[in-house]
Amino acid sequence: MTARKTPSPLAPLIGPIRGRIVAAAVLQALSGVVGLVPLMLLVEVARGLLAPGPAQAGRLWTLIGLSLLAALLSLALGAASTVVSHRADDDMQLSVRRRLAAHLARVPLGWFARHGSGRVKKALHDDVGEVHALVAHTVPELAGVVAVPLAALAYLLVVDWQLSVVAVLLVAAGIALFARAMAGGMAKMTEYARAMGEVNAATVEFVRGIRVVKQYDRQDRAASRFRAAADAFADFFLAWSRSTTPATVASFLLLSAPFVTVTVVSAGVLFCALGWSEPLDVVAFALLAPALCAPMQAIGSRMQQLQAAGGAAGRIRDLLAVPGLETGDERPAGSRVELDGVRFAYEPEPGREPHEVLRGVDLVLEPGTVTALVGPSGAGKSTLATLPARFQDPTAGTVRLGGVDVRRVPERILYRTVGFVFQDVQLLRASIAENIALAVPDAGPERIRAAARAARIDERIEALPAGYDAVVGEDVQLSGGEAQRVAIARTLLADPPVLILDEATAAVDPAAEREIQDAVSELARGRTVLVVAHRLPTVTGADRIVVLDDGRIAEQGSHEDLLARGGRYAALWAAWREGSEAPAASAADPEEDPR
Ligand code: ADP
Repeated sequence: MTARKTPSPLAPLIGPIRGRIVAAAVLQALSGVVGLVPLMLLVEVARGLLAPGPAQAGRLWTLIGLSLLAALLSLALGAASTVVSHRADDDMQLSVRRRLAAHLARVPLGWFARHGSGRVKKALHDDVGEVHALVAHTVPELAGVVAVPLAALAYLLVVDWQLSVVAVLLVAAGIALFARAMAGGMAKMTEYARAMGEVNAATVEFVRGIRVVKQYDRQDRAASRFRAAADAFADFFLAWSRSTTPATVASFLLLSAPFVTVTVVSAGVLFCALGWSEPLDVVAFALLAPALCAPMQAIGSRMQQLQAAGGAAGRIRDLLAVPGLETGDERPAGSRVELDGVRFAYEPEPGREPHEVLRGVDLVLEPGTVTALVGPSGAGKSTLATLPARFQDPTAGTVRLGGVDVRRVPERILYRTVGFVFQDVQLLRASIAENIALAVPDAGPERIRAAARAARIDERIEALPAGYDAVVGEDVQLSGGEAQRVAIARTLLADPPVLILDEATAAVDPAAEREIQDAVSELARGRTVLVVAHRLPTVTGADRIVVLDDGRIAEQGSHEDLLARGGRYAALWAAWREGSEAPAASAADPEEDPR
């Protein structure tokens, strides 16, 4: 059996418009070939003018008329090719963008948290644009680049094969020289990328560390890696261009239209003297020899475009291959959340062993209660909080919502049932009122204000000159804690029966702490609430406190129960009380000490 070639990533993108791309390429090739016809007809005009005997004016005018027609036809064919390729390209771009958008809507939210928006933007915008260049421009142009020299050569061979051999030898020598200059180009390109990467890394290191560098007056040390990288790059580039420049310049000269024309015409003069060629045939070469080599110049950049489009199509394919969420169509009955034997491991870095972040968690969140999750940083609190909203699915065990496995709940119903406010709150560049009313666009100002009051952010908004019309990021810069309370107001208005809140880790003053506590109690009314608490004082009022340690539940109970038990929580609490100026979460984990 023969090994099957890996299909190009371009195939699925351009498959549906393949026919039209071929049509555009054929039209462009025809346009190029028909563009040669006026030159051939002009050779015939020259023959007519110089022919002995009475000039056949009628025939000559006919030839000139025909050349004009051919020139126009060539233009029309070129325009038709552009229209066909751009229409096909529009359809391709629209369908790829639609497929990407539809697919991304099904990708788990956790994927976006891990990969950021840069990759999505690159695929949807830049990469689709690269494939556009290929479909709309590169392929038709390459067809022209190949067809025009072949047609010119066929014509010239018929006119005078000996002179054609001279022209072909010249062009072949030019191509051979160019190929030699480019030989080992791939290896050199890899080295180029490596040297350039080293310069980039040194630049980033230099800029990122500039504060430390300046503070300790070590500019020289920081700059030395950058200087070394820049010098190494310059040395490499100089050596590379020195070794390739003579061959490249010679090949460009051999392939340049004036050089080819002058050389072929000189050979023609010699061949006429030897009686091998006819003077009028030399005119044909003077007119058509440039067509043999002119398009060659374009090949290099077109090949680069082809490579770039292949890379772009690969990235689009990879994005389309990110597994989407599978859902069913079962409706949860109620808002009790149960975690049953839940284990979870993030996808490991290549070559690393997967590390289990959650190692068998059983937990029930009862409707109408607030459960607070505490524990040292890295215990898995934030990870656990993402599971009910399916940011990711557990690697083992089940998360049930109203008795139904969340994997069987349709996405729309899941997000209507489970609301979440995480640490990296996203506010839109819109008015605060619009931000709060995101899920309920027809909510009136009174409902918006009531939600803001409940989230303890109303006073801050009222104090702004533009009030609720202040545009976030333009009229007002909100702190992390404030942005989170706007997000809480938004969630209150959306009114989901289950609410997951991952408290902002940043240190806040006691007044703000109390406000957050109040806001959380407000959220609790009649809902199932899970709060990831990074500061102990915010959890005392919770119905139940769950202490998570190294992916397992270490203890659970009310604040009083846990204190009375004198275990892990009591120790955390005592540590917080003793160093009362030290925030409690830092007692739980020195890494999080925000001071
Ligand atoms: P906590 O909220 O208790 O501080 P997390 O749930 O944030 O703990 O993190 C638990 C562990 O999972 C940590 O070791 C952390 O490094 C790891 N982790 C968190 N997020 C990711 C991620 N997106 N990819 C890989 N590992 C992660």
